[in-house]
Amino acid sequence: MASIFTKIIQGEIPSYKVAEDEKHFAFLDINPNAKGHTLVIPKKEENKIFDLSKQEYAELMDFCYRVAKALEKAIPCERIGMSVIGLEVPHVHVHLVPLNAMEDIQFVKKEKLSNDEFVSLAEKIAQNFE
Ligand code: AMP
Repeated sequence: MASIFTKIIQGEIPSYKVAEDEKHFAFLDINPNAKGHTLVIPKKEENKIFDLSKQEYAELMDFCYRVAKALEKAIPCERIGMSVIGLEVPHVHVHLVPLNAMEDIQFVKKEKLSNDEFVSLAEKIAQNFE
C-alpha cells in the first residue's frame, strides 16, 4: 500500500508544498516543531534512508541543501537543523527545522499554526527556492 507521503506526492492528500523536482518533494510538516519545519522526501518510496543507493542519498542531500537555503532566506532563524528521526511513516523523510533554540529540534515542543500561516510560510519558502 502506498505510504501517506506517496499519496501526498500524488496529490491524493493535500500538503503545503514548498519545492519539487523530478525525484524529490518538500512540504511543511503538519505538526511543526517550529515555523517553516519542512519534510524533504524522495519520490521513490523507500523505508530507511540508508537503504537508498549512494547516488540516491547524495541526490537527496543535494535537494535538502537547496531547500535549506530557501528556508534560511524565508524564515528568520539562527540556523537550519537537520534530522532523520522518527518511526511513524515508513517513507524516507529528512526534517529541516529553522532553529532559534535547542528545543526546536527536540520533537517535543510543537507550534500550532492556522491554515493561512501554513499557506503563507509555504509560499515564502517556495519563492526562495532555486
Ligand atoms: P516520524 O516518522 O516520526 O518522523 O513522523 C512523521 C512526520 O510526518 C511527523 O513529524 C508528522 O508531523 C509528519 N506528518 C505526518 N503526516 C503528515 C501530513 N499529512 N502532512 C505533513 N506532515 C505530516
